[in-house]
Amino acid sequence: KGNETIGILKLYFNSPKEKISEDLKELLLCISGEIGLLIQNDLALKKLKEVDREKFLFLTTTAHQLRSPVAGLQSLLEIINNGYVGEINPKQKELIQRGIKRTNYMLNLISDLVSLASSELQVKKEYGKVSLCELTSDIVDFLKERVFEKSIDFTFNRPKKELYVFGNEDDLRKAIENIIENAVKYTKENGVVSVIIGEKQDFATITVSDTGIGIPRESLSNLFHDFYRSPNAKEFAEHGTGLGLSIVKRIIQEHNGRIFLASELGKGTTIKIFLPKFKDTGLKAS
Ligand code: ATP
Ligand code: MG
Repeated sequence: KGNETIGILKLYFNSPKEKISEDLKELLLCISGEIGLLIQNDLALKKLKEVDREKFLFLTTTAHQLRSPVAGLQSLLEIINNGYVGEINPKQKELIQRGIKRTNYMLNLISDLVSLASSELQVKKEYGKVSLCELTSDIVDFLKERVFEKSIDFTFNRPKKELYVFGNEDDLRKAIENIIENAVKYTKENGVVSVIIGEKQDFATITVSDTGIGIPRESLSNLFHDFYRSPNAKEFAEHGTGLGLSIVKRIIQEHNGRIFLASELGKGTTIKIFLPKFKDTGLKAS
């Protein structure tokens, strides 16, 4: 490669007297040229991976450093909002609460960026037995406040017996949370949202339905692209990065699952995900 040697091809003959014909020489030159190209490509790929790694480190470090002051700012606002430092009037309260919402939005954006960066780099993740009903119930609990604020008629149905899937708990939490969060976010006050856990053959299923704003037909093919938001969603909810569903798609793919979506503009949306059940092999660790 230029003046640089990137590899040596060694050739051994059975007898010392053997001569190399011109044809063979040509062939060997061709072969070494091809091998040289392979090595060059491999070196270039390694370099690209290094650059990616550096970008990832930069992104995660920056996100980390951004997260602390934003989270700090949020706790300060919460202290004022909760009246711990004296009474505040309704106007002040409203402004403080808007500030809290903005900081929430920033924290979500930061964690979305970190998720995207890490899934693109395929950071090695731990997989194991995940209790799907318990996990979903936890997520539902976490979203309770928003459901209450919007007076949404929310139902959660789970089988009595726990269902186990094979996966990475943090990632599955992210995926399920994003889907339920969207249902709540894009449903008007007094609307209906339901979450149903079920099973079909080797799969556990989660079905999330809402009576929200729905998705225009022409937006359907873009929904799972990074940063995409449909025009009616932008109008309805001013905040959103459009990263949620692309993160969901990546996670479900990594789990060998499937995702189905049906929606009607102005009527509502249903998303159903299938996740492979955990198979107990009966082997015990010694
Ligand atoms: P964020 O990244 O903060 O979650 P977002 O909710 O706008 O922002 P996604 O979760 O990726 O982004 O969703 C992409 C788009 O899909 C939304 O902007 C909206 O247009 C549409 N969408 C997703 N779920 C629903 C739903 N339940 N009802 C109506 N539209 C939805
Ligand atoms: Mg979303």
